[in-house]
Amino acid sequence: MAKKKIIVNNELFESYIDEKKIQARIRQLGKKISKDFEGKTPIFIGILNGAYIFFADLIRRITIECEVDFMKLSSYGDSKITSGNVHLLKDLNSQVKNRHIIVVEDIVDTGLSIDFIKRILNAHQPASVSVVSLLVKPKSLKIPTEVDYIGFNIPSEFVLGYGLDYAQKGRNIPSIYKIAKQ
Ligand code: 5GP
Repeated sequence: MAKKKIIVNNELFESYIDEKKIQARIRQLGKKISKDFEGKTPIFIGILNGAYIFFADLIRRITIECEVDFMKLSSYGDSKITSGNVHLLKDLNSQVKNRHIIVVEDIVDTGLSIDFIKRILNAHQPASVSVVSLLVKPKSLKIPTEVDYIGFNIPSEFVLGYGLDYAQKGRNIPSIYKIAKQ
């Protein structure tokens, strides 16, 4: 049984989305994406670091032929607020021209990272670019952002666990916690 409250970097977090619920939603997403991309051999591109656990679980629910690759962007640093400055730290190894691309994100907050990634990918003339994100904070979006497959829409509160960190801590926690109201 997961703890109801935990402390990470001296801040209190409360249990939010448990492992069972996360896995059930991932099974549904895997089924839907597999159906939508039948016969297309898409390339799944995981965005490091935050999406690595979601990516690993999602990809094992994909039942069609596919390939994988990774991109790494600069992160929040050690803060809980997005800096708005996005940089590419690791580019793709794959050739994406004329290929169907599925970007796998952990969370979409302002939408700036996804916008940045889509612009880089579109410059390589892929056949299509779709986005799957485990979490989306719809009220935090600063630019119109289309997320094709959403695990959970959540309020604009800071979350960690299941790959998501707070100043690099908490990525190993198996479920998702949100910052506790003081
Ligand atoms: P955006 O560019 O959409 O503002 O932010 C996307 C990135 O910010 C995510 O991939 C993630 O790394 C980080 N991020 C946004 N919201 C949260 C959050 O609530 N918790 C954590 N740990 N990271 C977040």
